[in-house]
Amino acid sequence: MSEPALLDIQTADTRVDLKGLLPEELQAFISTLGKERYRTKQLLAWIYGRGAASFDDMTDLSRGFRAELSERARLSHLTEVLRTRSSDGKAVKFLFALSDGLQVESVLMFEKDRRTLCISSQVGCPLDCTFCATGRMGLLRNLTAAEIIDQVLAIRRELVAGDDDLTNIVMMGMGEPLLNYDAVTRAIRLMGLEMGPCLSAKKVTLSTAGHVPGILRLAEEGLKVGLAVSLNATVDEMRTRIMPINRKWPIADLLDAVRRYYRRIGRRVTFEYVLLAGENDADADADRLIALVRGIPCKINLIPWNPIASPGPRHQRPSQARIDAFADRLRASHLTVSVRYSKGDDIGAACGQLITNPQEGRG
Ligand code: SF4
Repeated sequence: MSEPALLDIQTADTRVDLKGLLPEELQAFISTLGKERYRTKQLLAWIYGRGAASFDDMTDLSRGFRAELSERARLSHLTEVLRTRSSDGKAVKFLFALSDGLQVESVLMFEKDRRTLCISSQVGCPLDCTFCATGRMGLLRNLTAAEIIDQVLAIRRELVAGDDDLTNIVMMGMGEPLLNYDAVTRAIRLMGLEMGPCLSAKKVTLSTAGHVPGILRLAEEGLKVGLAVSLNATVDEMRTRIMPINRKWPIADLLDAVRRYYRRIGRRVTFEYVLLAGENDADADADRLIALVRGIPCKINLIPWNPIASPGPRHQRPSQARIDAFADRLRASHLTVSVRYSKGDDIGAACGQLITNPQEGRG
């Protein structure tokens, strides 16, 4: 697995960014200004609850305090560049520009009683899964905690104004979240703030391609996020071919880590399985999958592969009959199975289609 050098975020602004600070860190900053403790709560409510984009928005703070804040601190924010709505209206893809001009995507999905936001954790991804458009970008850099939480804040602000709100977060956008562990877990803690989005870790699902040390660290630290593991194959030879990370952490090691995660956290795990015609969708694959997950409380999401463009599809989507047969075989073994017909595939917003050159996301 090649690991390209990360780009540093170039900014001449040395003022501290208040977005992304944990409450105790914000409190420490407020103390350096000699201000009362309740100011911390006020700022948290403005930044994470009301999604303020600048100190000027914070109208119940005195002008003097706002000026002092602007002198010593800043409030970063993403800039929306493009918004695309799927033809059925059930998915909206947002393209955001970061302070250094790089871009990331987030996808808001509307279901009957759920508003699920899929967010990115890196610009691009180094893991190069063959079925995924993001992998073709390589890794440009990790997102900061502020950039991760700001995807939530920017989109939530508008929903709340329309008397709606987010119900769930999935970290399945661009990037491998466990390769950006500190920023990701910090952002998850901020999502849970009572005076902010109030989305506890239970409402957050983190999807990994199988970064074993990251899974073990999550288990050790007891962060109760939902864990989704992108499995996609039942034998190492095949998995390594479509997911090079498997060379480092093969299936047996990955499943050991998942078992430890379950024992520690006690939450049912989700296995994602992208169905690729003629490669991993045979009855024998289903039987091996049943055997592999035996004894792990889990559900299985089958994702018929979504076509991606450049440099041309290397995979095929299975027929509907094959998808149904595979799902039925798993269900016959009493597994909980969902077939995910991704929302937003007409706008390049479905699983594995996110890429920030809009010409390349769709096949
Ligand atoms: S599927 Fe996930 S881990 Fe694999 S290349 Fe795409 S974004 Fe990275």
